[in-house]
Amino acid sequence: MLLTITNTRIPADDLSYLLHKHPGKIQSVETSAGKAHIFYPEVSREKCTAALLLDIDPVGLVRKAGPKGNDFALEQYVNDRPYVCSSFMSAAIAKAYSSALNGRCKDKPALVDELLPLSAKLSVLPVRGGEKLLKSLFEPLGYTIIATQHPLDPAFPEWGDGRYYTVELSNIITLRQLLSHLYVLIPVCDNDKHYWIGKDEIDKLLEKGGEWLPGHPENELITRRYLKHQRSLANEALEILVKKEDPVDEDGSEAGEDRAAEEVSEVPKPRIHDQRLQTAKDELLMAGAKRVLDLGCGEGKLLKLLLAEKQFELVMGMDVSYRSLEIAKDKLKIDRLPERQRQRIQLIQGSLTYRDKRLEGFDGAALVEVIEHLDEPRLASLERAVFEYAQPGVVVVTTPNEEYNVKFENIQQGQMRHSDHRFEWTRKEFEAWAAGIAVRYNYDVIFKTIGEVDPEVGSLSQMAVFSRPVKNAQGII
Ligand code: SAH
Repeated sequence: MLLTITNTRIPADDLSYLLHKHPGKIQSVETSAGKAHIFYPEVSREKCTAALLLDIDPVGLVRKAGPKGNDFALEQYVNDRPYVCSSFMSAAIAKAYSSALNGRCKDKPALVDELLPLSAKLSVLPVRGGEKLLKSLFEPLGYTIIATQHPLDPAFPEWGDGRYYTVELSNIITLRQLLSHLYVLIPVCDNDKHYWIGKDEIDKLLEKGGEWLPGHPENELITRRYLKHQRSLANEALEILVKKEDPVDEDGSEAGEDRAAEEVSEVPKPRIHDQRLQTAKDELLMAGAKRVLDLGCGEGKLLKLLLAEKQFELVMGMDVSYRSLEIAKDKLKIDRLPERQRQRIQLIQGSLTYRDKRLEGFDGAALVEVIEHLDEPRLASLERAVFEYAQPGVVVVTTPNEEYNVKFENIQQGQMRHSDHRFEWTRKEFEAWAAGIAVRYNYDVIFKTIGEVDPEVGSLSQMAVFSRPVKNAQGII
């Protein structure tokens, strides 16, 4: 059985660096089910395809599995396993492409997080549940699917179609994400119940699916099928997966923040996250911006507020998470908006750590509670992407004020407000970062508070507003 992966972003042979496999050689690795061969049917600057061919040894498989009590003896030898993509292909992906699957790239480490136009072709994939299932598994992850169903036997068309498909999946995605999706979802499509699994499969599922499975609408079906319908294993995995889910409240405020705000004040205050969004919108309005960006827009709360203001002629939301964008699209009811409104809103997938021409030419941008979701070393790339390349006229950035955490009863010392925060800054740290940007990219910056202000530790959330220095009539700053 064959899996090919194609990259079409120039230089397309970056794929070979990511896979740690030389494009000029055929390489082979042993897997538990047989030999996996890796080779490149096509390598050019424009297009590069890597193939993983798994040559299953059917007799070896039976010997390894040992005698199976009541099984129909011949079925052990005569079955579809050597000819289809199944969990054996997942095992081959893990063995042959282990560095790529684990997000390592020795020679070009920056490639690991690059969103690439990738497509994967699975030559024969058994799908119990047909095209509908394929779509429900892959579409929420942003894939376009072409599925070709094969007849049971071309010589007897009256027998109808079988459960075997050739599947082509395309997406703009990192290679690591693509491999982790294939690793988990190939056996889920196959849904073969004929092999024993152990507890370590839970770990594999959480390791490969931990980032995307909690937010996947079919996470329960995926978990149950992946764990071969072993109820106790599936329940255990689901418990961990659900716990891992974003602790952001329905309204986007983060664990504990609102409770703390209520404790400090008797009078009910607007929820802290609403305050952030409102303040960001007001800053963009006051700056007179017409074309605005919401960078790291998440599920579209700010976009909704921005769309309600006539001043904003174009509102573009960008996020790295396709799933969040889908939710935003639903919540904003984009498909049902009248044409003129529809023209004012655009949602794009992308990463703030790369230069993106689509972000150029805007008057204003907001990054509400976004920077703390990036690893600190990646902030330098975000800085360049936003302030050096996109260069919006005004940029509003909000982030938690770490000093205020002592006021949260449910946050221990040293703990952060949200499991996905990579850092939280004191006022000094945030101000130093912002001041550096202002100098490097020629912006003015002022700082504002958001939420309750404590005389000692400052406000709940902090905000920097960057703007281009005003020139006088002679163009002198
Ligand atoms: N601004 C939104 C969401 C904040 S949560 C709100 O205030 O409600 C942080 C968001 O940043 C998430 O949606 C996450 O997917 C997004 N994000 C994280 N890293 C990103 C990156 N490198 N590029 C773009 N978006 C990113």
